[in-house]
Amino acid sequence: MQQQHIHCSVNNCHYWSTGNKCVANEIIVVNDAFGSQQPDHIDAGEAKQIEATPAGTCMETCCKTFVQKNSADINADNVYKTQ
Ligand code: SF4
Repeated sequence: MQQQHIHCSVNNCHYWSTGNKCVANEIIVVNDAFGSQQPDHIDAGEAKQIEATPAGTCMETCCKTFVQKNSADINADNVYKTQ
């Protein structure tokens, strides 16, 4: 499988790493409306079941996998760190 490199500057995310790297094994990006309505456990693992969430600009998209460092919800989504 092709190795992806996800760069991210949201450094208070549990999956953020030095050099602005995302070290989540997988992420999902959705539109803001969907992201704000869904609980934390709806995440990359459900990607195939999530219907399209179109956006007009980049400002209407969000990383649904984001979870704050030291949050109690870190394990809610079955996403894990790769390093
Ligand atoms: S999970 Fe999303 S917000 Fe968190 S580091 Fe990765 S890309 Fe950034």
